[in-house]
Amino acid sequence: MRLYRDPDQPGRLAFDTELYQRIGKETDRRKLVHQHVVPIRSGYAWPAKAGQVVRIVAVEGPQVCDLNLWNLHNPRERFWASRSRQLQGAHVTTLDRLWSTLPYLRPMITITNDTLPTQPTQHGGRCHDLLGTRCDPYLYKLLDDRDFDVTCHNNLSRAIAPYHLTELDVHDVINVFQVTGLDPVHEMYFMEPSPARKGDFFEFLAEIDLLCAISVCPSGDLSVWGWGEDGGPDPLETCRPLGVEVYELDPELLKTWSSPEPVQLRSVYRQP
Ligand SMILES: [Zn+2]
Repeated sequence: MRLYRDPDQPGRLAFDTELYQRIGKETDRRKLVHQHVVPIRSGYAWPAKAGQVVRIVAVEGPQVCDLNLWNLHNPRERFWASRSRQLQGAHVTTLDRLWSTLPYLRPMITITNDTLPTQPTQHGGRCHDLLGTRCDPYLYKLLDDRDFDVTCHNNLSRAIAPYHLTELDVHDVINVFQVTGLDPVHEMYFMEPSPARKGDFFEFLAEIDLLCAISVCPSGDLSVWGWGEDGGPDPLETCRPLGVEVYELDPELLKTWSSPEPVQLRSVYRQP
């Protein structure tokens, strides 16, 4: 078996992990500069400057969350779930990084703290997945012939509209607070109820200036879910709001940190 990347031999992907552990632990060296509670079945978009810490909080208990990320100044550079999955693993936690699309390929965020369990469930499910994507109204229409306008794709599209972005800018997500896996027989995607408790959070350092957007998934905590003739039961009762917090760090803490540059290539069109 050959791993795509050997976690014990990081090579040129090595970075100062102690710095990120300090950022996660030394919370007295940060100042809250923005706070927002996102209601159930809705979306929210906000900027975060390079070097700020963003925290997504399960303010009232379990609730899954779909996160998208763009370079604030260039939305063509956005989070790339499949490359991040290859470089970090299908589920991510503290000290994992999420990478940007080509022709850039740099870490957009580094996770500095994650209070969710990191051990797999009895079915092999793990938290914060890069395997699936957002729920969307096209799939509800296809599978259930149902009009459903509060899917994560709708919520993210509406949230980014004030930034002059559209549904074409919405991309494959990281499912925060969501437990998923692939079944060992057919490798079909499965989901389990979110184990998040009130106050749990997922926190990261913005490596570049970001536009972040989340959707508070209409499937709530995923304890009630399914497709069916009548669309299945409505999981409205399992929906809870999510909190967003942005922190400014003590500049001294970031003294040795610098925002990463994209990979420099001569030209992809150059004849060999
Ligand atoms: Zn969703």
